[in-house]
Amino acid sequence: MQPGNDAMEQLLSGLEGHRNLGKPVALICCSFRQFHACETLHGRALAEELIAAGQHCLLEHSPEGTSLVRTGPAELALVVPLSTDPCGELTALVQRLSNRCTVAPTPGTGGTPLLLTVAMGVAHANAAHRPSSHTLITQARLAMHQACGRPGSQWVLASPQMQQQAEQLYRQQAELMLALQQGQFSAHLQPIVDLQHGRTLGFEALARWITADGKVLSPKHFLNQTQAAGLTAVLDLQVIAAGLRAATHLNQARRSDQPLLLSMNISAQLIESDCRRLDLLALIDDHQPPDGIELQLELVEETLGNAETGLDDLLRELTDRHVLVAIDDFGTGYSSLSRLHDLAINAIKVDRSFVQRINATNKSSNQLLDTLVAVGHDLGITLTAEGVETEQQRRWLLEHGIERGQGYLFSRPLCLDAAIASLSATS
Ligand code: C2E
Ligand code: MG
Ligand code: MG
Repeated sequence: MQPGNDAMEQLLSGLEGHRNLGKPVALICCSFRQFHACETLHGRALAEELIAAGQHCLLEHSPEGTSLVRTGPAELALVVPLSTDPCGELTALVQRLSNRCTVAPTPGTGGTPLLLTVAMGVAHANAAHRPSSHTLITQARLAMHQACGRPGSQWVLASPQMQQQAEQLYRQQAELMLALQQGQFSAHLQPIVDLQHGRTLGFEALARWITADGKVLSPKHFLNQTQAAGLTAVLDLQVIAAGLRAATHLNQARRSDQPLLLSMNISAQLIESDCRRLDLLALIDDHQPPDGIELQLELVEETLGNAETGLDDLLRELTDRHVLVAIDDFGTGYSSLSRLHDLAINAIKVDRSFVQRINATNKSSNQLLDTLVAVGHDLGITLTAEGVETEQQRRWLLEHGIERGQGYLFSRPLCLDAAIASLSATS
Protein backbone atom coordinates (compact mmCIF):
# COMPACT_ATOMS: atom_id res chain seq x y z
CA MET A 1 0.00 0.00 0.00
CA GLN A 2 1.31 3.50 -0.85
CA PRO A 3 1.68 5.79 2.16
CA GLY A 4 -1.39 8.05 2.53
CA ASN A 5 -1.14 11.70 1.53
CA ASP A 6 -0.25 12.95 5.01
CA ALA A 7 2.43 10.33 5.57
CA MET A 8 3.82 10.96 2.10
CA GLU A 9 4.03 14.68 2.75
CA GLN A 10 5.75 14.11 6.08
CA LEU A 11 8.25 11.81 4.45
CA LEU A 12 8.94 14.16 1.56
CA SER A 13 9.39 17.14 3.84
CA GLY A 14 11.68 15.13 6.15
CA LEU A 15 13.85 14.08 3.23
CA GLU A 16 13.84 17.51 1.60
CA GLY A 17 14.85 19.13 4.90
CA HIS A 18 18.11 17.17 4.94
CA ARG A 19 18.71 17.57 1.24
CA ASN A 20 18.20 21.33 1.35
CA LEU A 21 20.94 21.49 3.94
CA GLY A 22 23.13 19.41 1.63
CA LYS A 23 23.28 16.62 4.24
CA PRO A 24 23.39 12.91 3.39
CA VAL A 25 20.18 11.17 4.39
CA ALA A 26 18.90 7.61 4.50
CA LEU A 27 15.38 6.34 4.23
CA ILE A 28 14.66 3.02 5.94
CA CYS A 29 11.22 1.61 5.17
CA CYS A 30 10.15 -1.04 7.67
CA SER A 31 7.41 -3.63 7.43
CA PHE A 32 6.24 -5.64 10.45
CA ARG A 33 5.73 -9.12 9.16
CA GLN A 34 3.42 -10.36 11.91
CA PHE A 35 1.14 -7.34 12.14
CA HIS A 36 -1.76 -8.74 10.12
CA ALA A 37 -1.58 -12.19 11.75
CA CYS A 38 -1.48 -10.57 15.18
CA GLU A 39 -4.36 -8.22 14.37
CA THR A 40 -6.50 -11.05 13.00
CA LEU A 41 -5.76 -13.43 15.86
CA HIS A 42 -5.53 -11.06 18.83
CA GLY A 43 -7.23 -7.85 17.76
CA ARG A 44 -6.09 -4.38 16.82
CA ALA A 45 -5.03 -3.28 20.31
CA LEU A 46 -2.41 -6.00 20.70
CA ALA A 47 -1.20 -5.48 17.14
CA GLU A 48 -0.73 -1.79 17.92
CA GLU A 49 1.30 -2.76 20.98
CA LEU A 50 3.54 -4.67 18.62
CA ILE A 51 4.01 -1.62 16.43
CA ALA A 52 4.63 0.64 19.43
CA ALA A 53 7.33 -1.70 20.73
CA GLY A 54 8.88 -1.81 17.26
CA GLN A 55 8.85 1.98 16.90
CA HIS A 56 10.42 2.41 20.29
CA CYS A 57 13.17 -0.09 19.58
CA LEU A 58 13.99 1.31 16.13
CA LEU A 59 14.19 4.90 17.38
CA GLU A 60 16.23 3.91 20.40
CA HIS A 61 18.93 2.42 18.19
CA SER A 62 18.88 5.09 15.47
CA PRO A 63 21.09 8.21 15.38
CA GLU A 64 19.91 11.42 16.95
CA GLY A 65 17.73 13.49 14.66
CA THR A 66 16.01 10.43 13.14
CA SER A 67 12.34 11.03 12.44
CA LEU A 68 9.73 8.34 12.16
CA VAL A 69 6.61 8.34 9.96
CA ARG A 70 3.91 5.69 10.16
CA THR A 71 3.30 4.94 6.49
CA GLY A 72 0.73 2.16 6.76
CA PRO A 73 -0.95 -0.20 9.25
CA ALA A 74 2.10 -2.49 9.29
CA GLU A 75 4.70 -0.07 7.94
CA LEU A 76 6.78 2.84 9.03
CA ALA A 77 9.71 4.77 7.68
CA LEU A 78 12.78 6.24 9.34
CA VAL A 79 14.40 9.36 7.91
CA VAL A 80 17.95 9.17 9.20
CA PRO A 81 20.56 11.94 9.02
CA LEU A 82 23.94 10.56 7.99
CA SER A 83 27.44 11.89 8.35
CA THR A 84 29.96 12.06 5.55
CA ASP A 85 30.58 8.33 5.01
CA PRO A 86 27.03 7.22 4.35
CA CYS A 87 27.81 3.71 3.10
CA GLY A 88 29.86 2.46 6.05
CA GLU A 89 27.65 4.24 8.54
CA LEU A 90 24.46 3.05 6.94
CA THR A 91 25.53 -0.59 6.85
CA ALA A 92 26.51 -0.42 10.51
CA LEU A 93 23.16 1.18 11.35
CA VAL A 94 20.93 -1.35 9.58
CA GLN A 95 23.03 -4.15 10.97
CA ARG A 96 22.49 -2.73 14.46
CA LEU A 97 18.76 -2.28 13.89
CA SER A 98 18.49 -5.75 12.48
CA ASN A 99 20.37 -7.30 15.42
CA ARG A 100 18.49 -5.39 18.10
CA CYS A 101 15.02 -4.82 16.69
CA THR A 102 14.03 -7.17 13.94
CA VAL A 103 13.31 -10.31 15.94
CA ALA A 104 11.94 -9.71 19.39
CA PRO A 105 9.25 -11.59 21.29
CA THR A 106 7.56 -9.01 23.51
CA PRO A 107 5.14 -9.72 26.34
CA GLY A 108 1.72 -8.33 25.44
CA THR A 109 -1.04 -7.42 27.87
CA GLY A 110 -2.67 -10.49 29.35
CA GLY A 111 0.55 -12.45 28.99
CA THR A 112 0.15 -13.17 25.27
CA PRO A 113 3.65 -13.23 23.80
CA LEU A 114 3.91 -11.18 20.63
CA LEU A 115 6.52 -11.81 17.99
CA LEU A 116 8.04 -8.93 16.13
CA THR A 117 10.10 -9.32 12.99
CA VAL A 118 10.86 -6.40 10.76
CA ALA A 119 11.85 -6.36 7.09
CA MET A 120 13.75 -3.20 6.08
CA GLY A 121 14.41 -1.56 2.72
CA VAL A 122 17.19 0.99 2.73
CA ALA A 123 17.96 3.83 0.29
CA HIS A 124 20.15 6.89 0.70
CA ALA A 125 21.15 10.17 -0.94
CA ASN A 126 24.34 12.18 -0.59
CA ALA A 127 26.28 14.77 -2.55
CA ALA A 128 27.46 12.23 -5.14
CA HIS A 129 24.20 10.33 -5.39
CA ARG A 130 21.12 12.54 -5.51
CA PRO A 131 17.93 10.71 -6.52
CA SER A 132 14.78 12.76 -6.03
CA SER A 133 12.92 12.25 -2.78
CA HIS A 134 10.11 10.49 -4.66
CA THR A 135 12.65 8.11 -6.23
CA LEU A 136 14.21 7.50 -2.85
CA ILE A 137 10.84 6.52 -1.41
CA THR A 138 10.09 4.21 -4.34
CA GLN A 139 13.51 2.57 -4.07
CA ALA A 140 13.35 2.06 -0.31
CA ARG A 141 9.84 0.60 -0.58
CA LEU A 142 10.84 -1.78 -3.39
CA ALA A 143 13.79 -2.93 -1.28
CA MET A 144 11.44 -3.41 1.68
CA HIS A 145 9.13 -5.59 -0.42
CA GLN A 146 12.13 -7.68 -1.46
CA ALA A 147 13.19 -8.08 2.15
CA CYS A 148 9.62 -9.12 3.05
CA GLY A 149 9.74 -11.81 0.37
CA ARG A 150 12.90 -13.32 1.82
CA PRO A 151 12.12 -14.56 5.31
CA GLY A 152 15.81 -15.06 6.10
CA SER A 153 16.75 -11.54 5.11
CA GLN A 154 16.11 -8.61 7.43
CA TRP A 155 17.24 -5.79 5.20
CA VAL A 156 17.87 -5.13 1.55
CA LEU A 157 19.82 -2.20 0.20
CA ALA A 158 18.08 -0.46 -2.72
CA SER A 159 19.84 -0.30 -6.05
CA PRO A 160 18.88 1.82 -9.08
CA GLN A 161 18.38 -1.38 -11.14
CA MET A 162 15.75 -2.56 -8.68
CA GLN A 163 13.19 -0.08 -9.97
CA GLN A 164 13.87 -0.98 -13.60
CA GLN A 165 13.64 -4.68 -12.81
CA ALA A 166 10.42 -4.22 -10.85
CA GLU A 167 8.89 -2.23 -13.73
CA GLN A 168 9.98 -4.87 -16.24
CA LEU A 169 8.65 -7.74 -14.12
CA TYR A 170 5.37 -5.93 -13.58
CA ARG A 171 4.97 -5.27 -17.31
CA GLN A 172 5.86 -8.87 -18.20
CA GLN A 173 3.39 -10.22 -15.68
CA ALA A 174 0.64 -8.01 -17.08
CA GLU A 175 1.50 -9.15 -20.61
CA LEU A 176 1.42 -12.77 -19.50
CA MET A 177 -1.93 -12.36 -17.79
CA LEU A 178 -3.33 -10.78 -20.95
CA ALA A 179 -1.86 -13.53 -23.12
CA LEU A 180 -3.42 -16.16 -20.86
CA GLN A 181 -6.79 -14.40 -21.03
CA GLN A 182 -6.52 -14.34 -24.81
CA GLY A 183 -5.62 -18.03 -24.94
CA GLN A 184 -2.23 -17.45 -26.58
CA PHE A 185 -0.60 -20.51 -25.01
CA SER A 186 -0.53 -23.69 -26.94
CA ALA A 187 1.27 -27.02 -26.97
CA HIS A 188 4.09 -28.23 -29.16
CA LEU A 189 4.51 -31.97 -29.21
CA GLN A 190 7.79 -33.82 -28.83
CA PRO A 191 7.79 -37.50 -29.77
CA ILE A 192 8.61 -40.04 -27.08
CA VAL A 193 10.17 -42.98 -28.89
CA ASP A 194 11.12 -46.58 -28.41
CA LEU A 195 14.93 -46.40 -28.33
CA GLN A 196 15.29 -49.78 -30.07
CA HIS A 197 13.35 -49.04 -33.26
CA GLY A 198 12.65 -45.31 -33.10
CA ARG A 199 8.89 -45.91 -33.18
CA THR A 200 6.75 -43.11 -31.74
CA LEU A 201 5.18 -44.22 -28.47
CA GLY A 202 3.64 -40.90 -27.65
CA PHE A 203 4.20 -37.17 -27.30
CA GLU A 204 5.01 -34.70 -24.57
CA ALA A 205 2.97 -31.50 -24.80
CA LEU A 206 5.25 -28.52 -24.17
CA ALA A 207 4.02 -24.97 -23.58
CA ARG A 208 4.54 -22.44 -26.35
CA TRP A 209 3.45 -18.80 -26.30
CA ILE A 210 2.19 -17.83 -29.75
CA THR A 211 2.36 -14.04 -29.54
CA ALA A 212 -0.05 -11.73 -31.36
CA ASP A 213 2.62 -11.07 -34.02
CA GLY A 214 3.11 -14.79 -34.58
CA LYS A 215 6.32 -15.42 -32.64
CA VAL A 216 6.59 -18.82 -30.99
CA LEU A 217 8.22 -18.50 -27.57
CA SER A 218 9.47 -21.43 -25.51
CA PRO A 219 9.21 -21.64 -21.70
CA LYS A 220 12.60 -20.06 -21.07
CA HIS A 221 11.02 -16.77 -22.18
CA PHE A 222 8.07 -16.89 -19.80
CA LEU A 223 8.05 -19.70 -17.25
CA ASN A 224 9.96 -17.89 -14.48
CA GLN A 225 7.77 -14.81 -14.80
CA THR A 226 4.65 -16.97 -14.86
CA GLN A 227 5.83 -18.60 -11.66
CA ALA A 228 6.62 -15.26 -10.01
CA ALA A 229 3.16 -14.00 -10.92
CA GLY A 230 1.47 -17.14 -9.54
CA LEU A 231 0.04 -17.89 -12.99
CA THR A 232 1.66 -21.26 -13.70
CA ALA A 233 -1.41 -23.30 -12.79
CA VAL A 234 -3.50 -21.31 -15.28
CA LEU A 235 -0.79 -21.82 -17.89
CA ASP A 236 -0.71 -25.57 -17.18
CA LEU A 237 -4.45 -25.81 -17.69
CA GLN A 238 -4.32 -23.93 -20.99
CA VAL A 239 -1.54 -26.18 -22.32
CA ILE A 240 -3.29 -29.31 -21.07
CA ALA A 241 -6.50 -28.19 -22.80
CA ALA A 242 -4.49 -27.74 -26.01
CA GLY A 243 -2.92 -31.19 -25.52
CA LEU A 244 -6.33 -32.78 -25.03
CA ARG A 245 -7.65 -31.10 -28.18
CA ALA A 246 -4.61 -32.41 -30.05
CA ALA A 247 -5.36 -35.95 -28.82
CA THR A 248 -8.35 -36.25 -31.17
CA HIS A 249 -6.23 -35.36 -34.20
CA LEU A 250 -3.34 -37.59 -33.16
CA ASN A 251 -5.81 -40.41 -32.71
CA GLN A 252 -6.94 -40.06 -36.32
CA ALA A 253 -3.35 -40.13 -37.57
CA ARG A 254 -2.14 -43.10 -35.53
CA ARG A 255 -2.19 -46.69 -36.73
CA SER A 256 -5.03 -48.58 -35.05
CA ASP A 257 -2.57 -50.95 -33.35
CA GLN A 258 -0.32 -48.07 -32.25
CA PRO A 259 -1.45 -46.81 -28.82
CA LEU A 260 -0.12 -43.40 -27.91
CA LEU A 261 0.89 -41.76 -24.68
CA LEU A 262 0.10 -38.07 -24.25
CA SER A 263 2.24 -36.61 -21.50
CA MET A 264 1.69 -33.13 -20.05
CA ASN A 265 3.36 -31.04 -17.37
CA ILE A 266 1.83 -29.78 -14.14
CA SER A 267 3.42 -27.33 -11.74
CA ALA A 268 3.71 -27.17 -7.97
CA GLN A 269 1.36 -24.17 -8.09
CA LEU A 270 -1.35 -26.33 -9.63
CA ILE A 271 -0.84 -29.14 -7.14
CA GLU A 272 -0.98 -26.72 -4.21
CA SER A 273 -4.19 -25.02 -5.32
CA ASP A 274 -7.43 -26.72 -4.31
CA CYS A 275 -9.43 -24.99 -7.02
CA ARG A 276 -6.89 -25.55 -9.80
CA ARG A 277 -6.71 -29.27 -8.95
CA LEU A 278 -10.48 -29.42 -9.35
CA ASP A 279 -10.19 -27.50 -12.65
CA LEU A 280 -7.67 -30.07 -13.87
CA LEU A 281 -9.87 -33.02 -12.97
CA ALA A 282 -12.89 -31.34 -14.60
CA LEU A 283 -10.85 -30.72 -17.75
CA ILE A 284 -9.84 -34.37 -17.91
CA ASP A 285 -13.42 -35.51 -17.26
CA ASP A 286 -14.82 -33.23 -19.95
CA HIS A 287 -12.23 -34.13 -22.57
CA GLN A 288 -11.70 -37.83 -22.17
CA PRO A 289 -9.12 -38.87 -24.74
CA PRO A 290 -10.16 -41.39 -27.37
CA ASP A 291 -9.43 -45.09 -26.71
CA GLY A 292 -5.85 -45.86 -27.58
CA ILE A 293 -4.57 -42.57 -26.18
CA GLU A 294 -3.31 -42.78 -22.64
CA LEU A 295 -2.79 -39.64 -20.54
CA GLN A 296 0.21 -38.99 -18.35
CA LEU A 297 0.97 -36.00 -16.13
CA GLU A 298 4.55 -35.05 -15.34
CA LEU A 299 5.41 -33.39 -12.07
CA VAL A 300 8.79 -32.27 -10.83
CA GLU A 301 10.57 -33.93 -7.92
CA GLU A 302 10.21 -30.92 -5.62
CA THR A 303 6.47 -31.48 -5.42
CA LEU A 304 6.95 -34.96 -3.93
CA GLY A 305 8.32 -33.78 -0.60
CA ASN A 306 5.27 -32.24 0.94
CA ALA A 307 2.24 -34.39 1.65
CA GLU A 308 0.23 -31.33 2.68
CA THR A 309 0.21 -29.87 -0.80
CA GLY A 310 -2.73 -31.95 -1.96
CA LEU A 311 -0.47 -34.26 -3.92
CA ASP A 312 -1.79 -37.45 -2.36
CA ASP A 313 -5.40 -36.43 -3.12
CA LEU A 314 -4.50 -35.56 -6.66
CA LEU A 315 -2.63 -38.82 -7.25
CA ARG A 316 -5.64 -40.79 -6.01
CA GLU A 317 -8.01 -38.90 -8.29
CA LEU A 318 -5.69 -39.41 -11.25
CA THR A 319 -5.35 -43.13 -10.56
CA ASP A 320 -9.17 -43.40 -10.50
CA ARG A 321 -9.20 -41.81 -13.94
CA HIS A 322 -6.43 -44.10 -15.27
CA VAL A 323 -4.13 -41.13 -15.78
CA LEU A 324 -0.46 -42.09 -15.40
CA VAL A 325 1.95 -40.02 -13.32
CA ALA A 326 5.61 -39.41 -14.14
CA ILE A 327 8.36 -37.67 -12.22
CA ASP A 328 9.96 -35.14 -14.56
CA ASP A 329 13.66 -34.15 -14.60
CA PHE A 330 14.41 -36.94 -12.13
CA GLY A 331 17.80 -36.56 -10.48
CA THR A 332 17.75 -32.76 -10.29
CA GLY A 333 15.76 -32.53 -7.04
CA TYR A 334 16.16 -34.11 -3.67
CA SER A 335 13.38 -36.66 -3.48
CA SER A 336 14.52 -39.96 -2.05
CA LEU A 337 14.03 -43.14 -3.96
CA SER A 338 12.02 -44.45 -1.02
CA ARG A 339 9.31 -41.84 -1.68
CA LEU A 340 8.65 -43.61 -5.00
CA HIS A 341 7.51 -46.63 -3.00
CA ASP A 342 4.80 -44.67 -1.21
CA LEU A 343 3.36 -42.80 -4.15
CA ALA A 344 1.40 -43.97 -7.15
CA ILE A 345 4.16 -43.15 -9.63
CA ASN A 346 4.16 -44.91 -12.99
CA ALA A 347 7.15 -43.40 -14.74
CA ILE A 348 10.39 -41.55 -14.26
CA LYS A 349 11.85 -39.16 -16.79
CA VAL A 350 15.59 -39.16 -16.32
CA ASP A 351 16.95 -35.65 -16.52
CA ARG A 352 18.91 -34.61 -19.60
CA SER A 353 21.98 -33.84 -17.48
CA PHE A 354 22.46 -37.58 -16.80
CA VAL A 355 22.15 -38.42 -20.48
CA GLN A 356 24.66 -35.72 -21.40
CA ARG A 357 27.22 -37.17 -18.97
CA ILE A 358 26.98 -40.72 -20.29
CA ASN A 359 30.22 -40.30 -22.23
CA ALA A 360 32.03 -38.22 -19.63
CA THR A 361 35.10 -39.63 -17.94
CA ASN A 362 33.49 -39.40 -14.51
CA LYS A 363 31.16 -42.37 -14.53
CA SER A 364 29.44 -41.81 -11.19
CA SER A 365 26.31 -40.44 -12.88
CA ASN A 366 26.23 -43.61 -15.01
CA GLN A 367 26.28 -45.69 -11.84
CA LEU A 368 23.38 -43.61 -10.58
CA LEU A 369 21.53 -44.37 -13.80
CA ASP A 370 22.20 -48.10 -13.30
CA THR A 371 20.79 -47.88 -9.76
CA LEU A 372 17.76 -46.03 -11.04
CA VAL A 373 17.15 -48.69 -13.68
CA ALA A 374 17.34 -51.41 -11.00
CA VAL A 375 14.91 -49.56 -8.70
CA GLY A 376 12.63 -48.74 -11.62
CA HIS A 377 12.46 -52.38 -12.68
CA ASP A 378 11.81 -53.50 -9.09
CA LEU A 379 8.93 -51.07 -8.68
CA GLY A 380 7.50 -51.55 -12.16
CA ILE A 381 8.25 -47.95 -13.08
CA THR A 382 8.86 -47.04 -16.73
CA LEU A 383 12.00 -45.02 -17.41
CA THR A 384 12.28 -42.44 -20.17
CA ALA A 385 15.57 -40.71 -20.95
CA GLU A 386 15.29 -36.99 -21.74
CA GLY A 387 17.50 -35.06 -24.11
CA VAL A 388 18.91 -37.95 -26.16
CA GLU A 389 21.05 -36.23 -28.77
CA THR A 390 23.56 -38.82 -30.00
CA GLU A 391 23.53 -42.34 -31.34
CA GLN A 392 26.11 -43.26 -28.70
CA GLN A 393 23.75 -42.15 -25.92
CA ARG A 394 20.88 -44.08 -27.49
CA ARG A 395 22.94 -47.28 -27.57
CA TRP A 396 24.26 -46.87 -24.03
CA LEU A 397 20.76 -46.32 -22.68
CA LEU A 398 19.41 -49.39 -24.44
CA GLU A 399 22.30 -51.53 -23.27
CA HIS A 400 21.62 -50.39 -19.71
CA GLY A 401 17.92 -51.16 -19.71
CA ILE A 402 16.33 -47.79 -20.61
CA GLU A 403 14.01 -48.40 -23.51
CA ARG A 404 12.26 -45.07 -24.01
CA GLY A 405 13.65 -41.70 -24.89
CA GLN A 406 12.98 -38.23 -26.09
CA GLY A 407 15.43 -35.87 -27.71
CA TYR A 408 16.75 -34.03 -30.72
CA LEU A 409 18.23 -37.28 -32.08
CA PHE A 410 14.65 -38.23 -32.93
CA SER A 411 12.76 -34.97 -33.14
CA ARG A 412 12.43 -31.47 -31.73
CA PRO A 413 9.02 -30.46 -30.35
CA LEU A 414 6.62 -30.09 -33.30
CA CYS A 415 3.50 -28.06 -33.98
CA LEU A 416 0.36 -30.19 -34.21
CA ASP A 417 0.37 -30.43 -38.02
CA ALA A 418 4.00 -31.57 -38.07
CA ALA A 419 3.33 -34.08 -35.28
CA ILE A 420 0.41 -35.49 -37.26
CA ALA A 421 2.59 -35.65 -40.39
CA SER A 422 5.36 -37.43 -38.46
CA LEU A 423 2.87 -39.97 -37.15
CA SER A 424 1.36 -40.58 -40.57
CA ALA A 425 4.83 -41.03 -42.07
CA THR A 426 5.76 -43.70 -39.53
CA SER A 427 2.37 -45.48 -39.56
P1 C2E B 1 10.65 -30.76 -19.65
O1 C2E B 1 9.25 -31.04 -19.27
O2 C2E B 1 11.72 -31.58 -19.05
O3 C2E B 1 10.67 -30.83 -21.22
C1 C2E B 1 11.79 -31.17 -21.95
C2 C2E B 1 12.52 -29.96 -22.43
O4 C2E B 1 13.75 -30.36 -23.02
C3 C2E B 1 11.78 -29.21 -23.53
O5 C2E B 1 12.16 -27.85 -23.44
C4 C2E B 1 12.37 -29.81 -24.78
O6 C2E B 1 12.25 -28.97 -25.92
C5 C2E B 1 13.81 -29.92 -24.35
N1 C2E B 1 14.50 -30.98 -25.12
C6 C2E B 1 13.97 -32.11 -25.61
N2 C2E B 1 14.93 -32.85 -26.21
C7 C2E B 1 16.08 -32.18 -26.08
C8 C2E B 1 17.44 -32.45 -26.50
O7 C2E B 1 17.74 -33.45 -27.11
N3 C2E B 1 18.37 -31.53 -26.16
C9 C2E B 1 18.06 -30.40 -25.48
N4 C2E B 1 19.02 -29.53 -25.22
N5 C2E B 1 16.78 -30.11 -25.07
C10 C2E B 1 15.81 -31.00 -25.37
P2 C2E B 1 11.07 -26.70 -23.43
O8 C2E B 1 9.95 -27.01 -24.35
O9 C2E B 1 11.81 -25.44 -23.61
O10 C2E B 1 10.50 -26.80 -21.97
C11 C2E B 1 11.31 -26.53 -20.89
C12 C2E B 1 10.64 -26.89 -19.61
O11 C2E B 1 9.54 -26.03 -19.37
C13 C2E B 1 10.03 -28.28 -19.59
O12 C2E B 1 11.02 -29.23 -19.34
C14 C2E B 1 9.07 -28.16 -18.43
O13 C2E B 1 9.74 -28.28 -17.20
C15 C2E B 1 8.61 -26.74 -18.59
N6 C2E B 1 7.30 -26.75 -19.25
C16 C2E B 1 7.01 -26.89 -20.57
N7 C2E B 1 5.67 -26.85 -20.75
C17 C2E B 1 5.12 -26.69 -19.52
C18 C2E B 1 3.77 -26.60 -19.04
O14 C2E B 1 2.78 -26.68 -19.80
N8 C2E B 1 3.60 -26.44 -17.70
C19 C2E B 1 4.67 -26.39 -16.85
N9 C2E B 1 4.41 -26.24 -15.54
N10 C2E B 1 5.92 -26.49 -17.25
C20 C2E B 1 6.16 -26.64 -18.58
MG1 MG C 1 8.19 -32.58 -18.91
MG1 MG D 1 11.98 -33.01 -18.14
